Parts: sequence; structure tokens; C-alpha cells
Amino acid sequence: MTDALESSPPLDLPLDAHALRADFPVLARTVHDRPLVYLDNAATTQKPQVVLDALDRYYGEYNSNVHRGVHRLSQEATEAFEAARITVQRFLGAAASHEIVFTRGTTESVNLVANAWGRANVGAGDEILVTEMEHHSNIVPWQMLCEAVGATLKVLPMDDRGELRMERLDDLLTERTRLVAVVHVSNALGTWNPVETIIGRAHAVGALVLVDGAQSIPHLPVDVQRLDADFYALSGHKAYGPMGIGVLYGKAAVLDAMPPWQGGGDMIRMVTFEKTTYGELPCKFEAGTPDVAGAIGLAAAFDYVEGIGRGRIAAHEADLLEYGTRVLGEIPEVRFIGTADRKAAVLSLLFEGVHPHDVGTILDREGVAVRTGHHCAYPVMQHFGIPATTRASLALYNTREDLDALVRALTRVREVFA
Ligand code: PLP
Repeated sequence: MTDALESSPPLDLPLDAHALRADFPVLARTVHDRPLVYLDNAATTQKPQVVLDALDRYYGEYNSNVHRGVHRLSQEATEAFEAARITVQRFLGAAASHEIVFTRGTTESVNLVANAWGRANVGAGDEILVTEMEHHSNIVPWQMLCEAVGATLKVLPMDDRGELRMERLDDLLTERTRLVAVVHVSNALGTWNPVETIIGRAHAVGALVLVDGAQSIPHLPVDVQRLDADFYALSGHKAYGPMGIGVLYGKAAVLDAMPPWQGGGDMIRMVTFEKTTYGELPCKFEAGTPDVAGAIGLAAAFDYVEGIGRGRIAAHEADLLEYGTRVLGEIPEVRFIGTADRKAAVLSLLFEGVHPHDVGTILDREGVAVRTGHHCAYPVMQHFGIPATTRASLALYNTREDLDALVRALTRVREVFA
């Protein structure tokens, strides 16, 4: 691991995944009469009891709309909602809590930037640079923007290991580049990208950078100020938090200069039929009733993760990744897709002669949950000339035994298709 871990808690006390599993009620269930082996964490992680309790407490004890009420419940809800924002601010290392905008998730965060910042700052002849390994949610909004304003979408390619071809970066960055949109950790390949370097070089030509942190937040310590990211997007449900809540971090000066995106309640200062003036950050970008319970649940998830230590989680997952790469690599039919030097917690593979969907179906019968498909990254599949992969993705509660179960289930695939 690299300097990203320097600021995290000491690694000398390894994480006890077997003990932590007890915090996640769903992990105790069976599937097809077998113990559940949950290896679909890049799609969504399971939720610890503390998150379920936080949601329960909100709905059971102080459910109320925020920001608008003088009554007691509304004040309690508002306090908890704004405290959640501060928890997220600290978790991301942001300079101020008003740099944290609650959204529905990474997808909505990217769309917010593409629409609000993009429409105001990108014009005909300008360029947006994405990478070949982006999730569709960090491609399509930029494509839509480019089509609308007459800008050009450029692509930083990757090599056959799934590493960005950084030697091409300086050629692709021009004085017309307005923004670089790059994934921190690829969901399809596991590649952990050198976003610090990309941000430095993009800034040198005057471009802003949006980092898609959907897959990095659950696995790595992230400090947006150290990275110097202009925008950082994440989804709560991939980091042990509830569904339907996400975050857009933006530097205050950048957010301040942006027009709002969605209009509605809570984002205004004053409305008349002649003119509306907008509220301060972050309300300007949070039109309508927010997902109050979601934000509170997300803060509970981040507190839980901090309590364990992100450095320890990363070290545990690095061990699992190394172990999984070894034991799965011993299966003759397995070919990995995504073999970058720096990877996080994702094992994407092909099983020779068997379609990934069939692999996934047989694994499910063995109680092993993996994801099969294009992982919302068609360009990655096109690069490798394949329709889909079978992807096992890891979380803090996974163990070497889970990976042994995956190996056994893959042996079953061989037997079925022999
Ligand atoms: N970016 C990456 C790298 C992802 O893996 C995902 C989801 O899989 C997303 C963006 C979109 O996240 P969401 O669907 O939570 O908005």
C-alpha cells in the first residue's frame, strides 16, 4: 500500500473479520440451504446493525422534516442531519461541511456537476477527458453535456492489464480541457488509479477534476484536500450505508460559483414571480426534502468504518486480494480480467468455456453471490473483446474461507460443464 495509508490508524492490530461478521445480520442467512457467501460488495455492501439501528431510531423516535420546523422533532432531525454532514466532511478530509452535498448517489453527483457546472463552464470546442475504464455513470452525463454544448469527449486509454496509459495523458490534456472525470478504483477491474498525478497534471492546464469514488470510499482512506480533487462523488450503499444516499464533495469556491441544478424548496433565499435568489451552500444544491434517514445512516456507517480503521480494512482486503488471486489463479480455466499492479478488492474473471451468467447461476446454487455481466462498463468489455465477466468483490467482513468457498463452487462449475 502507498502513502494513502499514512494518515490512517496503525495496522499492527489486524482486523478480525470473523468477529465483525456478527455485526451484519444478513450474513447469518442461508441461500439454497447453504451459508451465504457474499462476494458482490462492489454492487452494494451489507449493512451493520449500527446502521439499521440509526435508521430505526430516526423513524421510530424523531422522524420529521428538516430545516423548516420550529417544533422539537424537526429540530432533532435537523441536528442529526447536519451532524451527519460533519461526519462525512471529516471522513473525506474536506475543509468545511458546506462542501458536502447530499445526493442520491454517485450517479446523481456526477449528473449534478455535468449539469450545473458543465452548462456554465463548458462550451463549443471545449473538451472533457474521461478514461476507458469509467462506469457508465461517469461517461453518459459527460456525453450528454458534450452533445448539448458542442464539446468533445476524449478518452484516456488503458492497457491490457487494466492500467491507465499515463504516457498518453499529457497529449490528451490541452488548453481546451475543462474537466477530467476519472474513477479512483475501477468497479470492473479493481484498478486503483493514480488520481493524484492526474489531478496535478489536469490542474497544470487549468482543468478541474471529478473523481468517481464509488469504489474507493469502501476500501481506501481518502483525503480530498490531500488529493486536491475539485469534486469527489460517492454512494453510501457501497460503503456499508443505506441505499439512496450519496455525496458530492466540491471545493467551496467551485460550488459557490456554480448555478443550482434542480429547483424547489429548501434551495432558495427568496422567491417571487419576477425573480428567485438562491440559498447558501450546500442548500443551493439540495432542492426538496432530502433523504434524512439516509444521511444519518451514512454517518453511522462512516463512524463504524472509522471505529475499525480504514487502514486496517485496506490491509485486510489486500491480504484477501492476494490470497484470492493465488487460489483462483490455480484453477486452470480461470483467466483474470484486470491485473494491474495496484488493485483494490475486486477479482474479475472468465471461466474458460462457460458464459459468466452460467457461472454465476451455478455459484448461486452453492450459496456464493457474485456479479456477472458488463458491470456498467461496456467500454471495458469492448477493450477485452468479451461480453461479461464474473466478478467477486470483497469487503471488510469477507474471509479466506469465503474465497475457499468460491474456489469450491468454481470446481462445481467444471463438473457441471465437463
Ligand atoms: N461509479 C462506479 C465506479 C461504480 O462502481 C458505480 C456503481 O456500481 C457507480 C459509479 C454508480 O453508483 P450508483 O449506482 O450508486 O449511483
